[in-house]
Amino acid sequence: LGSAVLALSMAACSGEGAGSGGNDGDKPADLTIGVSMPTQTSERWIADGNSVKEKLEAKGYKVDLQYAGDDIPTQSQQVDQMITRGADVLIIAAIDGTALSGQLQAAADAKIPVIAYDRLIRDSPNVDFYVSFDNFKVGVAQATALLVGLGVQTKDGAKGEAKGPFNVELFAGSLDDNNAHFFFNGAMETLKPFIDDGTLKVKSGQTAIDKVAILRWQQEGAQKRMEDLLTSSYNDGTKVDGVLSPYDGLSRGIITALQNAGYRGAEFPVVTGQDAEIASVKLIDDGVQSSTIFKDTRLLAEQAVIAGEAFLTDKTPQANDTETYNNGVKVVPSYLLPVQTVYKDDIKPVLIDSGYFTAEEVAAGQ
Ligand code: BGC
Repeated sequence: LGSAVLALSMAACSGEGAGSGGNDGDKPADLTIGVSMPTQTSERWIADGNSVKEKLEAKGYKVDLQYAGDDIPTQSQQVDQMITRGADVLIIAAIDGTALSGQLQAAADAKIPVIAYDRLIRDSPNVDFYVSFDNFKVGVAQATALLVGLGVQTKDGAKGEAKGPFNVELFAGSLDDNNAHFFFNGAMETLKPFIDDGTLKVKSGQTAIDKVAILRWQQEGAQKRMEDLLTSSYNDGTKVDGVLSPYDGLSRGIITALQNAGYRGAEFPVVTGQDAEIASVKLIDDGVQSSTIFKDTRLLAEQAVIAGEAFLTDKTPQANDTETYNNGVKVVPSYLLPVQTVYKDDIKPVLIDSGYFTAEEVAAGQ
């Protein structure tokens, strides 16, 4: 199946003709890469956009970078414009993974290869490559960090001292983002045995993804849901011990709700996260948030550039996974990067020593 998919994607991209990816003899300065990013409200997408742009421009390519303000029609329109302005390759991080089929068909008609960036674009045959992280493992890592934070498990995977039962609540990302499902499935596979044997209790009873998802990954949405949970399920004096949160922005909303309800210090629940956003890294350093999952967006940008350049020179990008990401129409050849869990002790070795943040930025939280 993998090779059939690769053949298909090669066929989709081997087109010739003006304005389309990779005509022999074109100089980088004659080629434009359209980069469509979802939003600037989360710093990771700003870093992603900047990294992709800088790396492509350093190779001499022209870059058309647009942010869609988390608005689906805006993103559709921006991608349409990139196509009419003559983009030679498109790199897209979709807001809604199923909303761009029309644009992708127009890209295919114009023989423009499409790279899905971090988020898989679904329900379209016209996705030629996917660069992302191992998203199922992100979920496993988040759930593991929750177990470690509660003391049920040790960092090296052994059984911890704590027996529970612990009251936990679960959060998921935006249902229209394919990643949200991978994160939640990875997390639930890890947590299920502990829920089944009574070590963890989801007091609200809300364990289905559609009950715990937060539209557009919005911080305020997470704060509101946490407040509602505290009112509906913890008004009898029981305490929340842990919260599975799939993204630092949601974690900050959850933390605000918990702080407003009076949680402090040692009794503060274990809260997980993702993306190593600077405000959350400070919260981890301060002992408020328990962990985050670091995904090095510099490496992701590099893979997107490598894939884009392959298409521009009529080559097929090298996939390291040709099985996992079925977008509903086909398995999209993918390049997946590993992720790292960051607890307080990891901030220096993982984030500061690698140059991702300076010690001053961590101290200031910005
Ligand atoms: C990304 C995460 C991010 C989330 C919210 C997901 O698609 O993979 O890194 O936290 O979107 O922006």
